[in-house]
Amino acid sequence: MFNKILIANRGEIALRIMRACREMGIGTVAIYSEVDRDSLHVRTADEAICVGPPPARDSYLNEVNIIGAALITGAEAIHPGYGFLAENTRFVEICESHGLKFIGPSADIIALMGNKAKARLVVEKAGVPVLPGSGIVEDEKEALFFAREVGFPVILKASGGGGGKGMRVANDYDELKQLFNIAKLEAKSFFNDDRIYIEKYMPHLRHVEVQVVCDEFGNAVHFGERDCSVQRRHQKIVEEAPCIAVDLELRNFMGDMALRAARAVDYKNVGTVEFLLDEEKREFYFIEMNTRIQVEHPVTEMVYNIDLIKEMIRVAAGMKLEYKQRDIMPEGHSLECRVNAEDAASHFSPSSGKITMLDLPGGPGIRVDTHLFQGCVITPFYDSLLAKVISKGATREEAIHRMSRALREFRIEGVVTNINFLRRILNDAFFAQGDINTSYLEKNQILFEFAKVPEVVPAY
Ligand code: ADP
Repeated sequence: MFNKILIANRGEIALRIMRACREMGIGTVAIYSEVDRDSLHVRTADEAICVGPPPARDSYLNEVNIIGAALITGAEAIHPGYGFLAENTRFVEICESHGLKFIGPSADIIALMGNKAKARLVVEKAGVPVLPGSGIVEDEKEALFFAREVGFPVILKASGGGGGKGMRVANDYDELKQLFNIAKLEAKSFFNDDRIYIEKYMPHLRHVEVQVVCDEFGNAVHFGERDCSVQRRHQKIVEEAPCIAVDLELRNFMGDMALRAARAVDYKNVGTVEFLLDEEKREFYFIEMNTRIQVEHPVTEMVYNIDLIKEMIRVAAGMKLEYKQRDIMPEGHSLECRVNAEDAASHFSPSSGKITMLDLPGGPGIRVDTHLFQGCVITPFYDSLLAKVISKGATREEAIHRMSRALREFRIEGVVTNINFLRRILNDAFFAQGDINTSYLEKNQILFEFAKVPEVVPAY
């Protein structure tokens, strides 16, 4: 096992990883930007090194300084968390060439799954269902050809995309013609990769993703599914496990397919295979695989009573999985709400400032993953996630009631948050019935009241 791990991240996920390390008796090194000097993740770590000025490209993405920090402190491994360098193949290679273990899959797997058009083809070949679509489309003519094949509406997606960005829906030929070059330009500017592909657009399905854990000896298990259908502009807001539309038989089937996708690329460490689920037909389609820990991992931890960060560390240290698939069963129900520093009443514009008052929720069945403390300063430099409130109940109904209660207890002053927006969702009759799909918020009165203008919020 490692003696010391450097955590190449900030915020709640840096703290989450440190907590796992400490419970495992592993020393921790934090990195921070100049503006994060007083952050909780810095105070919590055994050692902390400043890696640069506030902009992420100069600090949390500063590969040279981060590798230097690991070497100076004698860290043996680097945990990237999510975002920042978590899916950066060059960084993984640099870690390896300096004898540092990257806690995650290898650079080739990240590269393959990061090329979403290629990943589609690879998993399809392995027998995993995918939506009708294309590989990389070179020009407008080819895009029109595939659109005709799969039928409108279609979605143009950036092959190197992520975070819900770089997607455009075309309802007919004219729209496709108009959007093709726009989509390419957007892909280039967001991801520095202008390759795009086409999929059949299916707006009324659920986003259901399967958590997999694979060791370095070919053993692989899945920890069921999460329903992340409550999204705003393709970005997740409320997540839950299990998905109420998935029974044991479907769970086994989706789990097998997720493992098939993982095995097709000889996957190592934790990962998430994302599907769109048509619950009426009981059919599902692969959309992508995320090669890192996800923001919403706690809901799986709550219902499967595991610690996914510890699993990542154990696998990276060369330990074998100790699970048998037949013993892995969900128990109860868990929800996660993402509390963001954004003003839902003002087009979800980002908010920053000093937290002048803070009461965090607690009590039975509530977990809060956060880096907040009274007096901390929320800057505009990084993503807007302030806290994840996670509830667990014996039933979905109890998990909802606990979440509603926790969101009422959550009092924060100094920045504007989306807590009232989350409370509205929790009180919604359709949500209570579990009648949700990826268009749920867009079609619902809640969103019309709260958000009328588009905006971009980073998400992972
Ligand atoms: P990203 O990597 O940016 O998160 P994904 O491919 O995982 O992109 O898709 C994010 C979300 O976009 C999905 O959860 C879903 O809401 C929507 N989406 C993606 N592909 C389709 C599709 N073919 N039809 C309908 N919605 C889609």
